[in-house]
Amino acid sequence: MSVFGGGQFFGGSIEVICGPMFSGKTEELIRRIRRAQIARQKVQIFKPAIDNRYHESDVVSHSSQTVCSMPVQDPMHILTKLYDSTRIVALDEVQFFDDSIIKVVSKLARRGCRVICAGLDQDYQGRPFGPIAHLLAIADRVDKIQAICTICGAPATKTFRTDVEHKEQVLVGESNLYDARCRAHCDYFGEEDDLLSYSNIGVVNNNENIEGRLYEH
Ligand code: ADP
Ligand code: MG
Repeated sequence: MSVFGGGQFFGGSIEVICGPMFSGKTEELIRRIRRAQIARQKVQIFKPAIDNRYHESDVVSHSSQTVCSMPVQDPMHILTKLYDSTRIVALDEVQFFDDSIIKVVSKLARRGCRVICAGLDQDYQGRPFGPIAHLLAIADRVDKIQAICTICGAPATKTFRTDVEHKEQVLVGESNLYDARCRAHCDYFGEEDDLLSYSNIGVVNNNENIEGRLYEH
């Protein structure tokens, strides 16, 4: 298989950009899209129709960067809306697609497309979100990026739901419903702590170690 440009497989590739909310996944996706456009490669951008937080069709980052996209209900529609000339397919909020996105992404990569997927790796309870775990496993490149914990300023790998009333996995919202948090400042580990109490491993009170630490951002 031949290689061109910045190490992309000419025969197609799968990239995943993941992390919690506010970590810059959409910014990074837009950065890669812009670079591809500078290289005059045809890019098509899709997002699940469920994500209309900022705009019905555009992909918009929390820092207000924006690119046009096509909202799709069903991942199979990506294949029907694809132009022959498209070299790069970018997908935002990939966790909201159903599992058929895995087949679609694999098929696009086999056809020679560079597929860039951005999405949450975990839901608000720290569980793998939708098809993301599978996509991470089959990806050629994975970037897991971090936000800043709103409690202590540490690197944040978790999305914390501040609205305790709602327990459903999918609840589309913004900073009105969600915070970026470090592991120590998520309180959904009750079950894990119970298990640890039966072992010799003590449960460390991470909060005590947090203050005064220096973080590299
Ligand atoms: P994502 O797609 O991962 O939700 P975005 O790319 O839309 O993230 O937005 C990232 C931007 O969000 C950052 O550049 C910053 O301006 C802003 N932001 C707001 N809250 C936070 C936070 N807690 N940690 C890091 N960035 C934040
Ligand atoms: Mg985003």
